Amino acid sequence: MDDDASGRQQLHVPSFVAKLDELTPAQRLIALWIFGGASLAFVIWASVHFELNLATTAAALLIVIVLLSLLDSFVSSAFFSLIAVLSLNYFFVQPLHTLDVSDVQDVAALAAFLVCSLTVTGLVRRLRDSAEVQREQAQLLELTADAIIVRGMDGTISYWNRGAEQLYGWSRAEAAGKVTHDLLQTRFPVPLAQINTLLLDTGRWEGELVHRTRDGTEVPVASRWTLQENARGRPVGILENNTDITERKRADELLHRSQAAFLAEAQRLSHTGSFGWNVVTGRIHWSDETFRIFGYEPAAAPSIDLLIQRAHPDDAALVRETVYNAADGERGFDFEFRLLLPDGAVRHVHAVAHSMRNGSPDLHYVGAVSDITAAKEALAERARAQEMLDRVQTDLAHAARVSVLGELTASIAHEVNQPLTAIASSAAAGVRWLRRPVPNIEEVRELAESIVSDAQRAGEIIARIRSMAARKAPEHTPLVLDEVIGEVLLFLRNEARSRAVTVLQHPAPDAPQVIGDRTQLQQVIVNLAINAMQAMAQAGSPERRVVIRTVATDGIGVRCIVEDSGPGIPPEHMDRLFESFFTTKASGMGMGLPICRSIIEAHGGRIRVDEAGAQGGASFSFTLPAANGPG
Ligand code: ADP
Repeated sequence: MDDDASGRQQLHVPSFVAKLDELTPAQRLIALWIFGGASLAFVIWASVHFELNLATTAAALLIVIVLLSLLDSFVSSAFFSLIAVLSLNYFFVQPLHTLDVSDVQDVAALAAFLVCSLTVTGLVRRLRDSAEVQREQAQLLELTADAIIVRGMDGTISYWNRGAEQLYGWSRAEAAGKVTHDLLQTRFPVPLAQINTLLLDTGRWEGELVHRTRDGTEVPVASRWTLQENARGRPVGILENNTDITERKRADELLHRSQAAFLAEAQRLSHTGSFGWNVVTGRIHWSDETFRIFGYEPAAAPSIDLLIQRAHPDDAALVRETVYNAADGERGFDFEFRLLLPDGAVRHVHAVAHSMRNGSPDLHYVGAVSDITAAKEALAERARAQEMLDRVQTDLAHAARVSVLGELTASIAHEVNQPLTAIASSAAAGVRWLRRPVPNIEEVRELAESIVSDAQRAGEIIARIRSMAARKAPEHTPLVLDEVIGEVLLFLRNEARSRAVTVLQHPAPDAPQVIGDRTQLQQVIVNLAINAMQAMAQAGSPERRVVIRTVATDGIGVRCIVEDSGPGIPPEHMDRLFESFFTTKASGMGMGLPICRSIIEAHGGRIRVDEAGAQGGASFSFTLPAANGPG
């Protein structure tokens, strides 16, 4: 193999001919013809001078024509062949110095010379053309940055392009004749014998190899091998085309590493680990986060036993059953269980997995395991906070009820006093009648009976007050709202009378029952009614009327409307009435309406104030859902 960088290994031409390349085509042609003409003239002159015969001269001329044909086209060669024939005829064929030919044999000799000359120059021309094509192809191979190696079936290198020199550091001369895989210490992805079998079967092989360069560096390459066969189909060599993929590998590696880092970070942040389980081989993979959640060092070999060991004793059976079920059939799982860590801490986890065949006959599971301890604790915390809030609200409602009772002391005392006074006077009359000489037993019996009923009345009044004053947790039972309102009116009867207020109830017999706490609902109505009475008294309203209406509402349940004939609500107060501590009263607390709202909302209802009431004053109303759902 020639070392010439231009790749002219196939055919050698005199170096002065290379100079012809520098001329324009026309200049080249003129130069060639002058040179060719002179060469032919020289041969003729020498032959005449040395009196050589026709055959020798013809042979010498043929050599010159063939050499000239190496330099240019067939046309020039044909032209030189013609000149040569004419010259031979003129100088060597009888009669001499004419173009006539007397002997037929000479005609045949000249014709044979012409045919021979044209054939040989034609062949030379074809040889040149194919050499040219090969030269261009060889040059193309030099242009590529890939390493291109041609090696025989025994592995010895016969061609080594510039790309190979640059990639591996071995020069063409150094590489020639060496065995490729020894020189480059090739590392194969699969045994070489397997690659060779495939190559011989299909004529091609592609894959990644690792080569070692002259300075000992390892370089990964994408390698493509093509089998070269001779005309009879016998393999004669292998063309190996190697592309350096160091950069691509590095980028892939970087990408892979950064993806893995992102994934690990995302798993850490979301407290979610991943796992893979090949049921057939028993191979299990846990991500770093999964190890952390289960409380194991990443060096541990993941196994089902390791998982069951960590399960909380109360959940171990559930975990075992779920996992064995998954192993038995293609059943994914989605369940929660607890872990008991060596330090005694309990962790709540949510595991989910589904089966994947992924082209393999083995049953595989992939899944995720999330540490939901924090979420569980937050839920428990929220439940605790809600419970505390409920307790505070109950306490507050109780305090508000007690404070209303305080406001009603005078009328309560009056109400209790009435039956007590009646009892006292009935008892006195009874004693008097018993002291008569002939006691009227019948009269005394009647008096005793009225004492009993007055005592019962007093007892009922006290029971109502006690239930209002009691501090007990709300109890939700089915109630008829109109009955609750009736009880409140009994309770407020004296208060209303003392303030000269008429209280009217318009019940709705068709209204559905509601579910609620009797005392709390009473408290709402008491609050609204007392507010109405106080507003009318404060404003000195001449006609004082409170109307409490209930209506059945389609799709909701019951609406209760409390209206008065008082001064109403100034527009600027409308939005603030239900705010805590909003009051316009000198000794008010501003907690009545906020407590009403929290009670009604806890019952699933709504409370509101309307701008214009039917009685001329304020209009408050609340809704409660029906006991048996919306209707
Ligand atoms: P308080 O009774 O301690 O003031 P509430 O929350 O029960 O607290 O009432 C807040 C305010 O709403 C009252 O101070 C009053 O100004 C107004 N209000 C409530 N009911 C009526 C009503 N029926 N008529 C006019 N104003 C009312």
